[in-house]
Amino acid sequence: MPVNLDPDLLSILVCPKCRSEFRVDDEASELICTNATCALAYPVRDDIPVLLIDEARETKDAEASEN
Ligand SMILES: [Zn+2]
Repeated sequence: MPVNLDPDLLSILVCPKCRSEFRVDDEASELICTNATCALAYPVRDDIPVLLIDEARETKDAEASEN
């Protein structure tokens, strides 16, 4: 579902973990942190970004290489 966010709003949002900017992932309805070492993806619900670290998922491959 496409993310329908005000560009002005998006421009002031930063990752609460690392203070980096976001890029929008329309297919996943997520805001992805542009910091490669953070790379958290935050859900967007009803066009409202949920910028909570507890709600975010990691997009880097750290978990996959755990075994
Ligand atoms: Zn981040």
